Order: sequence, then structure tokens, then C-alpha cells
Amino acid sequence: MIKIGLEIHCQLTKLESKLFCSCKANYRNLETNSNICPVCVGLPGSLPLLNKKAVEKASMLSLALGCKIPEHISFFRKNYFYPDLPKNFQITQYNAYGPTSIGSDGAVPIEGKTIRIRRIQLEEDPGRLLYEGSSEKTQITLVDYNRAGTPLVEIVTEPDFENPRQVRIFLNVLADLVENLGVSDPYLEGAMRVDGNISVQNGNRVEIKNVGSFRDVEKALHFEMTRQQSLVDRNIQVIAETRHWDDARKITVSSRSKEEEQDYRYLPEADIPIILIKQDKIESLRKQMPESIVDKKERYIKKYGIPQQVADVLSSDKFYSDLFEKAHNESNAKEIANIITTDLMGFADTREKKMDLNLTDRNLSDLADAIIHNKITRNSGKIVLQEMLKTSKSFSEIVANLDLGSMSDTSSLEKIIDEVFKEEEKAVSEAKQNPDTVNYIVGKVMRKTKGKANPNTTLEIIRKKLSV
Ligand code: ZN
Ligand code: MN
Repeated sequence: MIKIGLEIHCQLTKLESKLFCSCKANYRNLETNSNICPVCVGLPGSLPLLNKKAVEKASMLSLALGCKIPEHISFFRKNYFYPDLPKNFQITQYNAYGPTSIGSDGAVPIEGKTIRIRRIQLEEDPGRLLYEGSSEKTQITLVDYNRAGTPLVEIVTEPDFENPRQVRIFLNVLADLVENLGVSDPYLEGAMRVDGNISVQNGNRVEIKNVGSFRDVEKALHFEMTRQQSLVDRNIQVIAETRHWDDARKITVSSRSKEEEQDYRYLPEADIPIILIKQDKIESLRKQMPESIVDKKERYIKKYGIPQQVADVLSSDKFYSDLFEKAHNESNAKEIANIITTDLMGFADTREKKMDLNLTDRNLSDLADAIIHNKITRNSGKIVLQEMLKTSKSFSEIVANLDLGSMSDTSSLEKIIDEVFKEEEKAVSEAKQNPDTVNYIVGKVMRKTKGKANPNTTLEIIRKKLSV
């Protein structure tokens, strides 16, 4: 039996300022140690002031993950001595005297299984250490405190995962959820960092830290599962320890550093008062929350008749579901969902490519309208879309330039079909015997018209001529 639990650090990247001071929450691409103040570097006499917006965002996340929010929240000092932590303690939350962290006892459904959320805590990110070479062999370590004090939530799950694949699915669901909720941009480097703990056959638990991507989390857990099982098979006890994922060798390695095993001596943070969270505040936050991915998906299926699988893919991608919302009307919704999921998502699948996407909602809507009104074929639609992405020209301009208007004129279509009949005598006589082979002839006609013929009309004419 395999038990896996996760601790996920998720930065609240949508906030303006840090958790306890007014320095920028977005520390990225700034000059080293320029985004700091006496509070976030912990100078004596400085006092933290809690960012109200951070509490609100974290509360929304708690609600979205089905957690209970306590009547009051409080903060603790987690003491450890490490150069990335200027105060020598991290301000975090800790359920020492009953639940006072921003969320607890939640649940997230994934593929017919429920992953329980033990706790969500609001805390500050430490600074960053920069090594010359590898961290083990480095002669020089530099420290950048720009990140120190950045608001994040740590999400702790129960050990409910039975295999590494479930972990990967859960992490993708969680990333989509935080993005949809508008609390974090999970695809920013370092915005979501995952530690996993794993045990087999009720043996000792091993923690895996420092894993770079969701894919590597899955790989690391898989490696660890196999390693532990092979120890158990040889009657060797698994050592309870922290291991790191070695990305180059694709294995986990024991980390000998002592600082991971110490006692954190949690103390109540006396510089931040206990904060009451009123029920009506929670209700008003709940009302401000955007439609959930699950509700969105249901709406796509029920209101527009979008197929389940398409609705699933579309609703979980914030960028594309936003584009869908802006572009669609009552009649073309299904076609737009189809264009987005079959053509666009493959074309622009990364954050950068999405940001560069040259497509207005108007152009997308016009394209879908033309397809459903048979002004162009679906095939030509793909060409128009590519042209739109390249040139951002309007739909009518592109269709006129490329001469892609569909062949609505039946007599010229019939002429072409007659030509094909002459060229493909054998196929024609075969189709008379076996009407299932008629698609071959349709394909020939489509090729001859460069995809401009409407496949349904073509099929109809061919059938009539063959009398099948
Ligand atoms: Zn600061
Ligand atoms: Mn933490």
C-alpha cells in the first residue's frame, strides 16, 4: 500500500504588496536587494502590518478548496537559522491552540476520488540564495531578499494519494483552480512549489523536496515508490528522511543537511494581533468569487450543448474560457468551443504563446458564424484561422484575399463531380456496389475544390448520381 501526501507552496501573485509591508509582491526581474524595507528584512524595531487583501485572497482559496475558515486567525513564528530568512524566523500559521490557520478540513474531488485538505496556512516567502555552481560545492553564496515577505499559502493535504499519477492530476486541477480564482498565476517560475511525502507498506515516511515541475514531482514519487518497495522486498527498513530530486540523474538522493530535522520552536507572533473573521465577511467574499471551473463546465454542457470532453478542456483553461466568454453568441458557442479546443489550443499552449496570440474575440466570432452558416467549410476555416493569427486581418478581408468562400453554386460543383466520376471509374462502380466506399469520391472532390466544397452537399449530389 502506498500513501502520498503533499505540501504545496502557492504564491498569491495577484497581490500588489508583500504580506507584512508595502514592498512589491512581484519581486521578479528587479535589481537584487532593491525590493526591501526594514520590515521584510527584519530590522530591529520594525513591525509587521498584515496585508488585508492577502487574507481575503487566502480566504477565497480556502472556500474554493472546501475548507472551513475559523472565527479568528493568528500567526506564529517558525524559528530556523538559515541565510534566506533575515529574521531567523518565518511568520506563518500553526494550529497550536485549535484551528487558527486560514483554512482546514477541505476536500478536492479528482477523477472520482476525494483528496482531503488538512490545512491552508498563510505565510511569507523567504529570500533566495544564489550559489556559484552547485549548492554543495559552492565557494560563494549570495542572498537576494527581494522575495522575502512575498505572500503565499501553504496547502497541506492528507496522505490520500495512492499513486504518483493521482498527484499529477491533483496538481493540474489545483493550478487551474488558483488561476481561475484569480489568486495566483501558477505558471510563473517558482509560483507553485511542491514537497511530497511518501511511504509504502506503512513503513517510514520520506519527504521529497526541491522538485522543479509537476512532471518531475510525479517522476520523483515514482522513483521513490520503487526504491522503497525494493527495500521492503529485501527486508531493509526505509529510513525516515528528507531527500532531494536530482534532476540530472532522475533519482532522489538523501539530503544530509541538518536544518531540515530541527525543532522549529513555534511561538505565537505577538506583533500581529489575533484577527476576527466575521461570518458576513466570509459570505461577501463568497459572492465575489468567480464562477468555479465545475460550474462553468456544467453551464457549457447544459446551455450550449458543448460535448462533455470539450467543455472539460475549455472550462479548466482560464485564458481560453475567457476568450470563449467574450467571443461567443447564442448560436456560435459550440463552434467557437470547437475551434478553440481543436485548433487554437494546439497552436498556443504555453503562457508566452497565449500572451502573443493575435486573435480578437470579434474575428473568432466571425469565423465561427461563417462556418455554421456554410459560408466557408470547416477546412477553409482552419486556413482562415492561421491567417488571422499571422496577420490579425479581419475575417472578410482574409476570405476575399484567399478566395476561400465555399462553393454554394451547385452547378459548378456538379461539373467537378462529373470530372471526378470520369477519372475514378473504378471507384464509382465500386461505390454502386458498396455505398460505404463513397467517401473516397467525396475526398477526391474536396481535393479538387481545395476544400471549398461543402462535404454534405457533395455527398448528397454524389449519392443522387449513383442512386445509392
Ligand atoms: Zn518590505
Ligand atoms: Mn511553508
